Amino acid sequence: MDTREDNKDVQLLKDEMWTRKSTSKIKVFEERKRADESDIIKKIRKNNTREKEIIQVMKREDGLAWEEDKVAYMEGRIYIPNNKDIKEEILKEHHDPANVGHPGKHRMQELIKRTYWWLGLKEDVKKYVQGCVKCQQNKVQHQKRAGKLHPLEIPEGLWQDISIDMIGPLPRSNEMDAILVIVNRFTKMIRLKATTTNLSSEGVAKIYRDEI
Ligand SMILES: [Zn+2]
Repeated sequence: MDTREDNKDVQLLKDEMWTRKSTSKIKVFEERKRADESDIIKKIRKNNTREKEIIQVMKREDGLAWEEDKVAYMEGRIYIPNNKDIKEEILKEHHDPANVGHPGKHRMQELIKRTYWWLGLKEDVKKYVQGCVKCQQNKVQHQKRAGKLHPLEIPEGLWQDISIDMIGPLPRSNEMDAILVIVNRFTKMIRLKATTTNLSSEGVAKIYRDEI
């Protein structure tokens, strides 16, 4: 193995890094390269409309906005023309996929702005999150789960000697996110059972029947 060759490579890389004056430029370059590979860029190229606010900034030629190969850039971010389909596609891509995981509006805006920008982006992101059925369902569940201790409604008569409380929500483990605390008032014996915060009264009854 020729180590002198290895050293030469390292030196070259270093030189190239020195010529790059700001780290933000490098980041923009990398994000743009990634975006170039997507269909979105092709759609942007086909749509050469520019809002007048954008044209004004471009005319100033102060380096904030520029155009390259039919794509406009605003402060290094790819400008999205006023086209519903393109915007929808980007919004979807930065919210719906499992690996993106339905971020909230602030996080989602931050994710999009790593690559893209358009007039009214903030408002569009807000509307998208509000319009997401899954997010709204989660929000309702979250509100229901608020609070640390949930005294449970228990069918009358059955449980005279037993008290049952739920502690949760706790960090999820094997799909369980709560602990059922079952106390026998006479014997003072306590039993703990891993469960979920979605547990219903019927569910409690079943646990009692099966476990106690
Ligand atoms: Zn969502």
